[in-house]
Amino acid sequence: MPNRQPTMDASTKLVYDNIYSNAVMFLRRAIKELIAHSGDHLEREQAVVACIFIQMSIELGFKAYLIKTCSLSSILLKKHKDQPIQELMEAFEQGKLKTKSFEDLKNIIIADEGLFDEERIQYINDFQDYRNQAVHFHLNLAPGDLFDLRYDLVYMLVHVVIPILTEINMDFETPSEFYENQLDKNDFKTLIKFRPYVEEMKKVAAEHSRLVYNCIECEERTYNVDNEMCYCCNLQFTDFGEYVTCISCKAPRSVIFDHNNIAINDNIMNGLCLNCGERPEVFKCPHCGVARAFYDKRELKMVCCEMAEA
Ligand SMILES: [Zn+2]
Ligand SMILES: [Zn+2]
Ligand SMILES: [Zn+2]
Repeated sequence: MPNRQPTMDASTKLVYDNIYSNAVMFLRRAIKELIAHSGDHLEREQAVVACIFIQMSIELGFKAYLIKTCSLSSILLKKHKDQPIQELMEAFEQGKLKTKSFEDLKNIIIADEGLFDEERIQYINDFQDYRNQAVHFHLNLAPGDLFDLRYDLVYMLVHVVIPILTEINMDFETPSEFYENQLDKNDFKTLIKFRPYVEEMKKVAAEHSRLVYNCIECEERTYNVDNEMCYCCNLQFTDFGEYVTCISCKAPRSVIFDHNNIAINDNIMNGLCLNCGERPEVFKCPHCGVARAFYDKRELKMVCCEMAEA
């Protein structure tokens, strides 16, 4: 099991950076294939190429992860065991460094409890199998597979690639943040509109927050009110909004308003319910700070300290 080792020496870092950037390169190509076609299934050629690319990305990603969390020697064959780092670097530069098989690397990774659950391990095994079929004989894909693979590839992107290549904690950050940084603008835009990706992000959002509403940017139900971020399009506010209960649908903290500008606006701003789409106004009391949505100003008398006294 890898023991987390935060620092790498310069030589190890050089190997790591090369492997990591190649993992990302194959990932970008896998995503390009995946989103190239807006229909409800992949073309067979796209599917095979996407599977191979994602598997390449995972294999390199596993190595990068192990180098970072364990050591360079953790991914190398035994014959390199006692070689000093200078010799290893020479072998690396000459392309003669021999690494363990994917099967062996995978077993080390799987033994790292808490990284991948049974479901994720099953996906990893399936893609390893697709890759072997495609490389050695022929990857047999039925029409149904060409539909399912769009979802399976997205699952790999979100639940296998992200934990391996990033330190994103999905409680506070979104996988889309990584993809926004790594993909070109058009591919990122296409990815966040790609239905299998959107559906997966809805699930991720629901798993990580109690308060998930519609995003004002991408309009998907992937906006986490607690952290003011959208799991799908990566919209992120830093202390932009404040949220109050909607008086139409009663959803808690669903009406967003711009609390930074409300004081200069007579303590009243337009609000927008991210749950039902209604647009009540919001009053924020300058004395006690309590904010309420309302339609009729007369309702305010009942809710605010000062107004109640007046
Ligand atoms: Zn969004
Ligand atoms: Zn509402
Ligand atoms: Zn008040």
